[in-house]
Amino acid sequence: MYKDDEIIVCLNCKTQLEKIAKIEHLSDKDLTILKHPKRTLSVNYPVQMDNGETKIIPAFRVQYNDALGPAKGGIRFHQHVDQGETTELAFLMSLKTALVGLPYGGGKGGIKIDPKKLSEGELERVSRGYVKEMFKFIGPHNDIPAPDVNTNPKIMNWMMDEYELISGQKNPGAFTGKSIALGGSLGRNEATARGGFFILEEKYKDINKSKLNVAIQGFGNAGSIMAKLLSEIGFKIIAVSDSSTGIYNEEGLDIDELIKFKKDRKSFNHFDAKKITNEELLELDVELLIPAALGGVITTKNASNIKAKNIMELANGPIVGEADEVLEKNKIEVIPGILANSGGVIVSYFEWVQNLSNYYWTEEDVNIKLKERILSAYKAVLKEKEKYNLKALRTASYSLAVNRILEAERARGTLS
Ligand code: NAD
Repeated sequence: MYKDDEIIVCLNCKTQLEKIAKIEHLSDKDLTILKHPKRTLSVNYPVQMDNGETKIIPAFRVQYNDALGPAKGGIRFHQHVDQGETTELAFLMSLKTALVGLPYGGGKGGIKIDPKKLSEGELERVSRGYVKEMFKFIGPHNDIPAPDVNTNPKIMNWMMDEYELISGQKNPGAFTGKSIALGGSLGRNEATARGGFFILEEKYKDINKSKLNVAIQGFGNAGSIMAKLLSEIGFKIIAVSDSSTGIYNEEGLDIDELIKFKKDRKSFNHFDAKKITNEELLELDVELLIPAALGGVITTKNASNIKAKNIMELANGPIVGEADEVLEKNKIEVIPGILANSGGVIVSYFEWVQNLSNYYWTEEDVNIKLKERILSAYKAVLKEKEKYNLKALRTASYSLAVNRILEAERARGTLS
């Protein structure tokens, strides 16, 4: 984070944008609009704990850009959440929604708590308290939150319920990622992994998968479902991890067994298999590496040790700083997160459309529409890369997204 004309912007956003600005010959005016988050709300609100004490909870919501439509983005519950991280994630959401052609801007929220240390009741009070604080700022036509790390349909249900209690009307489109019983979309739970999977299915369509080894960091919603989908079409998943440890089997792990094991919320350090560290997992010699946990795991410190031939960013922002250049030099292809993990926000959009129209689709319909939209974005990115002879899919993706945002800003008259 740094201060620029007294407005807080995020350093990583600035670095990435300046790279695109050179390629796309963006003007100073364009850059100024893109470098600054449009709206940022930071709150500290009291929540009563089970022992009677009152705890002050720091929380954030950033609407980075809303030229294309209402801001859209998840809410993260994590002990390390801060305004800088939330801004960075909101910036990525703005690019993601633009890249896949959704009528949305980008936003993100975060609550600085360790959810594992809270009881169910405390978690509910934290979730409802967030909505009370943010009520004037969010809503189905200005900012629509969704789940992210450590948030799930149950939390979205509480938040939507609180929103409806305050607004005095039914408003299922105020949040996405809800349970099906409250207007959630079929297919939303699997959408992030399934979207990335459709890209990989296309990329490897004519190749025998049985010799293709995969390592996946993180075995939550995104990582475990991706592992299942890839193993079903023959990829060999040789390593996966959670926050406790990585597990490894060069013959391939039994993904169904791991999913069953995780149903009891146990950590992999209690699973009987060869253990590797999360750092070792990232450096395995595999065809495909999928970071699907937190951001900032591949940096200039370890980038030169990465041996994977391809990386799919299922997590948001796993590769940071100059690490991209090292990977590029070593001819490692990176499918960037704004494309790879966009399945989640695409099906969130479908959920919102269903809520606003009160007309609900089958899971098959959802998956067909998801496949169409994500593959059309993937093909547009490949075309952009080829057309301008760009080295990386990230540059091609960011260029397309930035141009769409600027076009909307111009159409609004905010840029001449
Ligand atoms: P999740 O909470 O379901 O799972 C996170 C996984 O990461 C867990 O297995 C956890 O043990 C592991 N993890 C946590 N800290 C770790 C660490 N320090 N080292 C290794 N593993 C660690 O979260 P999720 O929804 O699967 O999200 C994972 C990533 O995907 C995040 O970066 C998120 O922003 C991104 N993402 C998720 C969605 C979605 O719809 N779920 C959409 C887009 C992007």
